[in-house]
Amino acid sequence: MDGAWLLIGVLVALLVGLAAGKAWERYKLVEGSWTDRRRMRQSPHFILGLNHLVAGQVDLAIAELEKAAAIDPNAIELRLVLGNLYREKGQVGRAIQEHQVLLQRPRLNRIEHANALVCLGLDYRRGGFVDRAMSAFSEVLKLDPENEAALVNLEKLQEDQHQWQEAYVTRQRLAQIAGPPNQPKSQSILAFLENELGLQAVQQGRLADAARRFEAAIELDKAVIPAYLNLGDVKLQQGDLPGAVAIWEQSIDVTPDRAYLTLDRLEPAYARIGAEPRFGELCRKLIAASPREWRARTALARHLQLQGHPSRALELLFEALEHNPHALAIHQAIWNTLSELDLPRHVVARYIEITRQSVFYLDPHVCMRCRYRSTELLWQCPHCHEWNTFVEERITPATDTESEIPAGLAH
Ligand SMILES: [Zn+2]
Repeated sequence: MDGAWLLIGVLVALLVGLAAGKAWERYKLVEGSWTDRRRMRQSPHFILGLNHLVAGQVDLAIAELEKAAAIDPNAIELRLVLGNLYREKGQVGRAIQEHQVLLQRPRLNRIEHANALVCLGLDYRRGGFVDRAMSAFSEVLKLDPENEAALVNLEKLQEDQHQWQEAYVTRQRLAQIAGPPNQPKSQSILAFLENELGLQAVQQGRLADAARRFEAAIELDKAVIPAYLNLGDVKLQQGDLPGAVAIWEQSIDVTPDRAYLTLDRLEPAYARIGAEPRFGELCRKLIAASPREWRARTALARHLQLQGHPSRALELLFEALEHNPHALAIHQAIWNTLSELDLPRHVVARYIEITRQSVFYLDPHVCMRCRYRSTELLWQCPHCHEWNTFVEERITPATDTESEIPAGLAH
């Protein structure tokens, strides 16, 4: 019997302990009085505020969350979020004030302190106070060296300031923290940063140093095309023409869909090394590999026209036009060739017919991440600051059914 009573006693003690623990978790002594910490979360204002937030109604969300925060003035995370909402609304001064007040609270733990500082850093960044933002994020890293939000924001600020070397170090820290799953993305960013360091070296006339940077970029991520272009340009400046040609050709092997970036460089280079026919061969190979390749057709057409074959050039330009009727360059080349042929009436009629039936493209490049549009191909998005996210978007295919919208944009 004694054994059974002992067991019951132990169980009761356990239950009392659990209840006390729960009560401690729920109630907190705030300025001399016990407050129920669950009341704030269970208040209708909190849930309503979250619902408004999900619906994107920021003003209504702020109104409800302010009421919820009034129930428990100690709910740090709620004031943190409110500050962030003011920032998103564009009230940067108000956001800064909210977060500064939070930072002055006594008894903040290390994580709370770091979180409030991250938010303050974001306020400063939004307000354009670059130096203050940088020092806020640096301070976060002193409290919490592995704070990814602080590192990512610091990296973007350093990139904005063209502090490529500092950004490189920051990205290395991020790569280390993220571990293997995120390694390829970091490798690619590091490669773009190496490329920027190379460009900086070119500007300062340090060509050998620049070449090493570009080589390092390719080593980090072989898909970083600007590094090939720039490395070739440096080799050209150093008088190594065959080396330049080799590196440009290598970039075409890596990403044939960006081959057009090297065509303008390769055409005169082939001529100078006495290998003129290679340009035609290259363009034909690109056209065969990707039937929609309009730039290789335009480049080959120009090449043929210069060699005195305007009719063959015109055929290629008409093909190119079917694939990209928006490209002004094609129309200009066509009119140029047409006038060289003295505007034969039936060929002009064909031109008009092709433009009428053409598939329509949107010429601008679009960022796959934030859908920012640009008329030229950019390697870093000026809006979301992501690297290598631009693709060419094609809308409303008129005559053919095959979709060419890149996979990344489809979802
Ligand atoms: Zn973007």
